[in-house]
Formats: sequence, C-alpha cells, structure tokens
Amino acid sequence: MALSHSNDRARTDTLLAHAGRDPAAHRGMVNTPVYRTSTVIFPTLASYRARKDQGDKFVRYGRHGTPTTYAFEEAIAALEGGYKSVAVPNGLAAIVASLAAFSRPGGHVLVPDNVYTPARRFCERRLPQWGMEVEFYRPGEGAALGARMKPATVAVYCESPGSQTFEVQDIPAIAEQARRRGIPVLADNTWATPYFLQPFELGIDVSIHAATKYIGGHSDLMLGVVTANEKHWGAVHRAVDDLGYSVSPDDCWQALRGLRTLGVRLRQQMRNALAVAQWLREQPAVARVAYPALPGDPGHALWKRDFRGAASLFSVCLKPMPDEALETLLDSMTLFGIGSSWGGYESLVNVVNAQSSRSVTAYRPDGPAIRLHIGLEDPADLIADLDQAFAAAGLRQA
Ligand SMILES: *Cc1c(COP(=O)(O)O)cnc(C)c1O
Repeated sequence: MALSHSNDRARTDTLLAHAGRDPAAHRGMVNTPVYRTSTVIFPTLASYRARKDQGDKFVRYGRHGTPTTYAFEEAIAALEGGYKSVAVPNGLAAIVASLAAFSRPGGHVLVPDNVYTPARRFCERRLPQWGMEVEFYRPGEGAALGARMKPATVAVYCESPGSQTFEVQDIPAIAEQARRRGIPVLADNTWATPYFLQPFELGIDVSIHAATKYIGGHSDLMLGVVTANEKHWGAVHRAVDDLGYSVSPDDCWQALRGLRTLGVRLRQQMRNALAVAQWLREQPAVARVAYPALPGDPGHALWKRDFRGAASLFSVCLKPMPDEALETLLDSMTLFGIGSSWGGYESLVNVVNAQSSRSVTAYRPDGPAIRLHIGLEDPADLIADLDQAFAAAGLRQA
C-alpha cells in the first residue's frame, strides 16, 4: 500500500525525531526549552546596530522569534525539504501572509473553487482592496490551468485535496505551467502534512500548513507555518514581518512535541480511516465516500502518484434524508465530537457546507454530506459507534 511506495520513509521518521533540536546548545536538554522574551539585550551599541545583518534566524527581538520558534521553523523546513520556514499565529494567517507576499495592485491570482472557506473570504473581501483580481478555477483543471495564467498573474494557489470535498489536484502539471511563466505556486498542504507530501518535489514554491491540525496533533494549540524555496523566501518572510505576526514560544514548543509523534500517529490514523471508510462505503445510507486513499475515488490515481499516504480526514455523501435524521445520526455518535478543526488524536464529525461557497463548480450531492476525522481510537469501536448511530437515525436499511 501507499506507505511503502516511498524510499524516503526512514529518513522522514528520523527527521521527526531529530530535527529542530540541539541538546549541546541547551546544557544537554533533549528538547529545546521555551524561551520567553520580548527584549534581547546586546553587549555593545555596535552589536545592536549589526543585529539586522546577522540573518533572519538571529535572536534580536521577541516578535521575530526566539530559539524555540526557530527550532520549530527549522524542523518544518527540514521535513518539507524547503529553504526556510516561518511560524505564524494560525493556519489562516499562513494563508494570508503567503498571498500578501505576492499581491500588488493590478495583480491576478488563481484560487481553486473548493478552497478552505476562510481563505476564500480573505480572497474575496481583502485582496480586491489591495488591487488584486481573484479568479476561482475548477480544482480538476490540471495543465489546462495554464490557459488562465496571464502576464498579471502573481500566484497560483492550490489546496489538494480540498478539505471538505477532497478533490485531488494535478499539482505537478499546474506547477509546470506556472514555472514556464515564472509564476510562484502556493499550496495549502495541511491535509497531507510534510509526512505524506514533499511539496518542493512536486514543484510547489510556498507550502502552507495549519500546524493547529496534525502537526500539533492534540487539539490544544493554534499555529501556522509557511515554508518557501530560496527564491521566494524573502518575499514570504517580509510579508510576515510587515503584517506583524508573531507566535508564542509555548505554542512552538507544543508543536515540536507534536511533531515527534507525527509519523506514528498518521500511519495509525490512516489505517483506522481506511477501515472506517471501507465500512462506510458498504452502508445503505451512504451514497459516496470522498477519500482519495480509496481505490475508485476520482482522485485515487493522482493521490497514489503524488502522496506518500493519506490523512484521516474524509467526507461522506449520504442519501437524501430528513434533517432530523441527520441530527439524530450525529447526536447519537458517542466517540465522534461535533466541532470544527481536525488533526488531533480524537475522532470528530461535522457537516459539509460546500454548496454556498463556490462560484465556478457545483457541489450538489443528492443528500447531506458529513466530514469525519478519524482519530487513534480502535477502529472497531468507531465502526460500532457509527453503526449504532445509523440505527438510531433509522438509516440501517436501504
Ligand atoms: C483549519 C485549516 C486552516 C486554518 O487553520 P487555523 O489554524 O484554524 O487558522 C487552513 N487550511 C485548512 C485546509 C484547514 O483545514
């Protein structure tokens, strides 16, 4: 299966254990400690004046970062295979900073129609204020997207798979079209994490993560991170600086702690998700499971080609049912929490609300759709819980 189709697996697991820490620099402590500060004191005026010449990971003022934040950024850059990373307060801030880095009056950006809804709102409400034209495109467009790239295009934005409806994009084909025209490709890789996707190998220039999700992994922090290649690092770093983003060293410390187990969590969660998704596919109330890891999914071939594994987040289109049945179904689940976000160790359920936020593609399943995040529980228990919830909602028979 997918987990074995990479030769770099061992390398990534080793990086997860060792990246972003330097015990010798911290009196032998295994983990980089939490450094809390605003002010950094310099021994001489000359050294203070020279602070800006020391590189962008030099400790000079709290807002720019501390050894703790830099450790997290270093770990992510190593895992992503990028030049450098910068932590920002949350995933949306990572999206905003990445788009801000390339926006200019008269600029044009291509954004997939299934993009994360808060990102869409930023594009629709804020980018035009900066003089930008936003064009939404069908996530399935692939190489044909080249025809929409114009001289004014400053960036092509991707999100694959879409985090509600799970269409997989042909990122290498899009990146090839963009590269020919010198346009940077930005991608939200939150779903795949650096464990399951190597963005720079696929031609992505700027990789965006909500570390709030799998990287943190325990539903207890808000954090984002942006990684760029060398060519685009300056633009991204300046944007983060200019927007005034800074992050708490405690959150970076938590995220580093989460990273150490990212591999084991994701491997197990993928296994659990496949078991639950395969069971769901057989249920009479289920019309379709949208999960690229399942053979037969429209995105399966691209996923298999480009990803090393699958996150444990997918959606399920249900057959038409009264809203009361949907409410009973979700309310009857005892192991699935109803709430926003995902990527923790625990299972979650939510309704998919994709109909209202699209402009060039239709998302009109016949019935309601739900999104499941599969956690580290025993999959047999998760299936039993879903089974009793279907029964409680009167949905066990066709
Ligand atoms: C949650 C999410 C974000 C935003 O992350 P926050 O940390 O909640 O701001 C961005 N992209 C995707 C795909 C997400 O699911």
